[in-house]
Amino acid sequence: MATQQHTTPPRGPTDKPWVLLVEDEPSISKVVGKLLDEEGYDHESIADHAQIAAAIARRPPRCIILDSDPGSSGHERSWADAAAIRRAHPELPVLMFTADPGSIAEARAGTSARSKAAGYAGVIDKPFLVVEFLATLKHAVDTPRGPGRRDNRGIAAEAISMFPELGGPAAATWGVADFFSVAVHELRTPLTSIDGQTQLAQRFIAKEPLRAAEALARVREQTKRMNRLITDLLDQARVSVGALSLEVATFDLGVATAITIGLNEHEDVPRITFTTPASVRIQGDPERIAQVLGNLLDNAIKYSAPGSPIDVALIVAGNEAQIRVTDHGVGVPDDERDRVFAPFYRTSRTREISGTGLGLHISRRIAEQHHGRLWLESSSDAGSVFVVALPLAEERRGR
Ligand code: ADP
Repeated sequence: MATQQHTTPPRGPTDKPWVLLVEDEPSISKVVGKLLDEEGYDHESIADHAQIAAAIARRPPRCIILDSDPGSSGHERSWADAAAIRRAHPELPVLMFTADPGSIAEARAGTSARSKAAGYAGVIDKPFLVVEFLATLKHAVDTPRGPGRRDNRGIAAEAISMFPELGGPAAATWGVADFFSVAVHELRTPLTSIDGQTQLAQRFIAKEPLRAAEALARVREQTKRMNRLITDLLDQARVSVGALSLEVATFDLGVATAITIGLNEHEDVPRITFTTPASVRIQGDPERIAQVLGNLLDNAIKYSAPGSPIDVALIVAGNEAQIRVTDHGVGVPDDERDRVFAPFYRTSRTREISGTGLGLHISRRIAEQHHGRLWLESSSDAGSVFVVALPLAEERRGR
């Protein structure tokens, strides 16, 4: 955190008030960005809390809107971040931006040690009402702020730790620690976008129908996202208690894989190659196995450049069939490789691409329910190899 303090209201290249938004969810950044444009603010949006100090140093803002949601990458550190900002820049207002009722109540009451240290200038809850959002922001930007206060026990704001390390134990386990609150956060995220975009559409509908239509297109995108999430949450609920029912049949995995590939290839030019021995029969639920393959293919397609090749190979190794899906996409950073199978975990490289973070977790449980396995065999920034292994049908074993 830079220690220099600005005493005059900062001015950027334009005379518009400059607002820094810290928000890791692209759809929410987008809707807030549109609102700020409309209201004559200049703004920058960053996803990573570790970049806050650098962003302030680059161009001191008139206000910071700081997300603080369970499940978001910054949740564990938002209070400390707000306190650190307040210490280094006492006159810079920070607004809490959250869907977490506990944090809202604590910040509004302002009586806990950490809320005193954070000294939020206001709270915006998600989903937000546009008029309230803008009024809170305007109030924060227009009201001069004094230096950090001490609380009545004489504890200085400086006692709060500054910018704890991302990737610490809390960050590593949030995905499993509080599944319910993360699920609620994940559902509220598209809802916040839907609500914001609907309000934008209402504002534009008479004077700028094209912009209203654009906002409504985003509403549809987010509605689809919510629907996907609900489907995945239902599957996750079933797999987590082992209650996923399987309609078991003996079938040819090569044929089933070819069909799933066909369903996943939408472009005119085929980009997925498939190699398979003559016949590989397994016993299992063809629908659920297709779901696992579909998830691996969907990821391989989503997380690589359009048109880059994807190779699928079906092989027999001992008593099992293995399907290996190789892509040449963004890959998974080394220190995140184990975590991609945890519920809701999404890597730092894929934030901009829509996903629920549940597919691999569900797929692994489905493979396990078939007495099989699913793992990430290798990954670099040149691509990944995911492998699913399933036991061969009894009839084929020992041949
Ligand atoms: P999602 O719906 O987010 O794709 P998944 O559970 O299928 O959920 O995957 C979890 C995360 O693992 C993804 O969000 C992405 O960050 C990472 N991931 C999965 N597959 C790949 C891949 N083929 N290449 C790079 N990253 C991947």
